[in-house]
Amino acid sequence: MKDIFLSIVIPAYNEEQGIQHAVTEVAEIARQCTHRHEIIVIDDGSKDQTYENMCSLCLADNSVKVVKFSRNFGKEATLLAGLELATGDVVVTMDADLQHPPSLIPVLLQEWEKGYKVVHAVKSDRLTDSFATRLRAQVFNGLLKRLGGIEAANASDFKLLDRVAVDVLVQALSERGRFYRGLADWIGFKQAWVPFSVANRNAGVGKWSAFSLIGLAVTAIVSFTSAPLRIVTILGFCTLLFAFVVAVETLWSWFMGQSVSGFATIIITVLILGSFNMISLGIMGEYIAKIYGEIKARPMYIVESSHGIEGAESNNKRQERL
Ligand code: UDP
Ligand code: MG
Repeated sequence: MKDIFLSIVIPAYNEEQGIQHAVTEVAEIARQCTHRHEIIVIDDGSKDQTYENMCSLCLADNSVKVVKFSRNFGKEATLLAGLELATGDVVVTMDADLQHPPSLIPVLLQEWEKGYKVVHAVKSDRLTDSFATRLRAQVFNGLLKRLGGIEAANASDFKLLDRVAVDVLVQALSERGRFYRGLADWIGFKQAWVPFSVANRNAGVGKWSAFSLIGLAVTAIVSFTSAPLRIVTILGFCTLLFAFVVAVETLWSWFMGQSVSGFATIIITVLILGSFNMISLGIMGEYIAKIYGEIKARPMYIVESSHGIEGAESNNKRQERL
């Protein structure tokens, strides 16, 4: 194990308070595992001193590298950038707040040695999460499971990937609307799962707003399933059946010489059908927006500056993802 080259990818957004401590701790564990390692911190357009703090750490330890995005592109983009820039035989992705315990890295590596190409660290408990965070996660994971068939409960972005898996994620998948947790599972290969207990944040506060979580859920569902579109079709058939029953009842009353009453019924029916139509249009709109996003083929991130990595900015000119 000592001979492998280990890359560790850490996304960081406004993590100035804890990033140096976290990276130092991760570096210490990496040194115990292998002779050769690199730690690549991807600064997701932080507005604080995250990048500057990392640059001073890079000067002290040349296995530490940092890349700064020109703005906040989101965690999925940071993970892709990290995987693209990592050169190790094995790549570990983990958060910058020590909620993913670095002490688990040797355990992940042991699984890799057994021949597993993707090793997922799964949350065995959520005791450190507040009630609101747990509720949010439950809604998010429930939506993914019911609509997308993606088992994301307790999943995390703390993973180990073999070079083979990294190459597939970076080169074979050209989509922009990415959902790392789903894709790492989707690519297949021999996979293992290792439980871990989520630690408290070492510093700072969580960066996900309810809004960005909904965005991620929509991306995950739209990129993994067309089930919502099928639901629209099924709803269409249900309303057709409803329309048929109401039509028969109305015609029957008319033939029997009774005036057809029910202004309230009409209003309610129009409102319900109107809502169904709007929701259906919205669902189709989400898919069209994603298609439009893919066709525009904008880069998933733009690098502003980097330290310790040659040519990180060359990704800005990348054309091959077409
Ligand atoms: N993060 C990021 N870009 C963002 C939001 C978060 O790179 O737009 C990073 C953040 O710095 C951290 C990791 O993603 O390293 C997980 O974020 P956070 O701790 O806020 O999320 P949670 O622990 O609730 O999953
Ligand atoms: Mg966290």
